[in-house]
Amino acid sequence: ATLLEFRDVSKRYGNDTLALSHVSFSVNEGELVSIIGPSGAGKSTLLRCINRLIEATSGEVIFDKTNVQQLSKGKLRALRTKIGMIFQSYNLVDRLSVFENVLHGRLGYKPAFVGALGLYHESEKKQALEILKSLGLEDQVYKRCDQLSGGQKQRVGIARALVQEPRMLLADEPIASLDPSSSKTIMDHLRHISTSLGITVLVNLHQLDIALNYADRIIGVSQGKVVFDGLPSELTDET
Ligand code: ADP
Ligand code: ADP
Repeated sequence: ATLLEFRDVSKRYGNDTLALSHVSFSVNEGELVSIIGPSGAGKSTLLRCINRLIEATSGEVIFDKTNVQQLSKGKLRALRTKIGMIFQSYNLVDRLSVFENVLHGRLGYKPAFVGALGLYHESEKKQALEILKSLGLEDQVYKRCDQLSGGQKQRVGIARALVQEPRMLLADEPIASLDPSSSKTIMDHLRHISTSLGITVLVNLHQLDIALNYADRIIGVSQGKVVFDGLPSELTDET
């Protein structure tokens, strides 16, 4: 079944930059799709139109049969809990512990309101600990995030997204700041999230070789346009 559909979506920044130009594609439930393309191609803009961190200029973004551009503020918040997101720069709250960062994802508190683990139910803590363990972070739970390596930080980012029990995970260049070994660990986790947890994963990458290794499908973007949409094997045959 289709979970996400872009219908003729364009995004213009100011008067000059057409970051997305008539983009159409769809993503099935449970798929791991990689968006590839050079820096500036529009990958990040594309991802952010899904949870409306960025507003599309025209066209329709349909998630789970709902037009996301027509959602009220309250419904948009509900949508964002169903769509987890991870970033190249992790976007963790450095001075808080791993545990607090992850629980923060769960309740959507602003950092200023976090700080007391007493705020959370035992069941929430237990679930967060299980997710951290599944990501190999059981020894890091009470460390401050600024004491972690990049690979560990990205795993905390994944944990923070997973506690929301999302249907889809958006990953914006999640390995661009990581060494090859940490990159492989992160991609293995994303693969597992898609295959075993059934969560749809959309991941921006600029490395074609990694997309070829991990993705069910590849969408190639160049200068705001979709220039390829198909299986990794079709891409290697072409080039
Ligand atoms: P990618 O993720 O593939 O690197 P982006 O989506 O970040 O591409 O950017 C696509 C284009 O839009 C680029 O030309 C970029 O400079 C431009 N752009 C991105 N964000 C903004 C913004 N907030 N304001 C103006 N231009 C932007
Ligand atoms: P990066 O530098 O990694 O590309 P940004 O610094 O542009 O990312 O981060 C975008 C902003 O969106 C961050 O301030 C982040 O805290 C916020 N954010 C993260 N996840 C969500 C979400 N699911 N819904 C709304 N906002 C989010």
